[in-house]
Amino acid sequence: MQTYHKNINADFICKHCGCFVSSLTLVSGVVNRNHCPYCLHSRHVDLYDPGDRLGACKALMAPVGLTLKRSRDKYAPDNHGELMLVHRCITCGELSINRIAADDDPEILLAILKNSTKDRSAILNECRIKGIRLLEEKSHRYLVQSQLFGRSADLWVEAAML
Ligand SMILES: [Zn+2]
Ligand SMILES: [Zn+2]
Repeated sequence: MQTYHKNINADFICKHCGCFVSSLTLVSGVVNRNHCPYCLHSRHVDLYDPGDRLGACKALMAPVGLTLKRSRDKYAPDNHGELMLVHRCITCGELSINRIAADDDPEILLAILKNSTKDRSAILNECRIKGIRLLEEKSHRYLVQSQLFGRSADLWVEAAML
């Protein structure tokens, strides 16, 4: 179903924070690393359709929120779905949903959940139009923490309440 470009898995230097990003699956836990694990910014390049690749504007894509991708396996132990990162191109506004890598900074993911930028309501609206439901901190914090930190989320929450 997916066709990959040969050079997709190349290491890259993040255009936002300047960090070197390794594409090794061993490090990221994902096959296609498309965003920086330190600042979670990505670039607007369509990885799956070579036809769109030329059209993509290659600008930075900022992380704007988190969403859940429903699992196709209805017997999956976690029926909430997989936690996904929503990126928005800073130039053309295109939205994309991406898998979270094993080494993505969980503190930054939590900060994105809290995201309260001034254009938040506009972004929420754009996502709604595209059928993307952004998670809200007040109702999904525990869910996000348990996906990011596993069972230690309970302890984490307790510690946060002290
Ligand atoms: Zn970065
Ligand atoms: Zn773009």
